[in-house]
Amino acid sequence: MSHVMNTYKRLPVAFERGAGCWVWDTSGKRYLDGLAGIAVCGVGHSHPKLVRAISEQAGKLIHCSNLYQIDLQEKLADRMAQISGLQEIFFCNSGCEANEAAIKLARLYGHGLGVEVPAIIVMEKAFHGRTIATLSATGSRKVQAGFEPLVPGFVRVPFDDLQAVKRVGENNRSVVAVLVELIQGEGGINICSANYLQGLRDICNAHGWLLMLDEVQSGTGRTGKWFAFQQSGVTPDVMTLAKGLASGVPIGACLAAGKAVGVFKPGNHGSTFGGNPLACAAALATLSIIEEEGLMANAIAIGNLIREDLRAQLAGVSGVRQIRGQGLMIGIELDSTCDELVKQALAAGLLINVTDGNVVRLLPPLTMSRDEAQTLVSLLAPLIRDFLARPRSTEPVATGA
Ligand SMILES: *Cc1c(COP(=O)(O)O)cnc(C)c1O
Repeated sequence: MSHVMNTYKRLPVAFERGAGCWVWDTSGKRYLDGLAGIAVCGVGHSHPKLVRAISEQAGKLIHCSNLYQIDLQEKLADRMAQISGLQEIFFCNSGCEANEAAIKLARLYGHGLGVEVPAIIVMEKAFHGRTIATLSATGSRKVQAGFEPLVPGFVRVPFDDLQAVKRVGENNRSVVAVLVELIQGEGGINICSANYLQGLRDICNAHGWLLMLDEVQSGTGRTGKWFAFQQSGVTPDVMTLAKGLASGVPIGACLAAGKAVGVFKPGNHGSTFGGNPLACAAALATLSIIEEEGLMANAIAIGNLIREDLRAQLAGVSGVRQIRGQGLMIGIELDSTCDELVKQALAAGLLINVTDGNVVRLLPPLTMSRDEAQTLVSLLAPLIRDFLARPRSTEPVATGA
């Protein structure tokens, strides 16, 4: 019996090594990685420059504590401020912690304005993490069930619905912030309309609310820009990052701009590990690899190629509802739950994921080549075709959120 606590229904495979977009299991079988450890290994597996940066830093100083000056943390914050346009950064170790920081910041900001019971607007189908506060902010009963009482102070509205946010603003004096993913990852690769972010910015400005973006999954180059919000000309007050930021060395970040700057004072928040020299060295190396190798442009080109190829190979297949995405954040929505595709892909030597029950999700390394992208589609499309051609064990899923 395993002594590891049973929180994951794991697939029966263990990986031993990786290189670029490929990983090898303990029996030597090779797999094309269409998931990158859930949007973590953006620069590909064991990139030599990343390995060198981590090894060199590990040989010098791994950890020292935020009780002291940390040069690499300063350097990383400078770099992240430069590429994001935000000003101040708090470092932690994961996406949920980054969102915890954002939630605490919003509450402190609200109290500073004299709001006694500050509330944050969150979205249906959102995913913000598994801590008690972030699962309360998450819009999925599956994530919340059994962990009540939930943390109060969240007001939920439908995603991509500006009118719903406006209505809350008219009736609720305790709102201090909006927290949203521009592309919902776990929720099924749901993309907001082009005017949504500007609309949210306007509403937030009108009420003095903080606009807080969870870019834990969409950030760090995945959508073809450093951050998904940069597709538009709108800047948030707060942004959270994690997943791809340090290529697998645990890191999270909460970035602040404008009225969110200076809200936290010494003693308000902290982290033992957050922003330690090792994690910062890995993040700095990740950011330079993305820039030097043109990986954002590659994410756009390869993302378009994968979507076009999939559309061509799945044209006319009934049961394929939509193929969507931005850069290398891709969803293929089918008309029925399709978890079994993950195992079939594994057997075929391809790593994919299914989210929200009926959406095949692809989050490959940003380094993926055209050949690898074509291999990915040629492995995946027949599996989807066969799956949809068979009588299905599950009821079709209703359209819409
Ligand atoms: C993965 C994810 C999180 C949670 O990150 P952890 O590192 O698992 O805590 C939060 N928000 C979004 C959008 C995510 O995709």
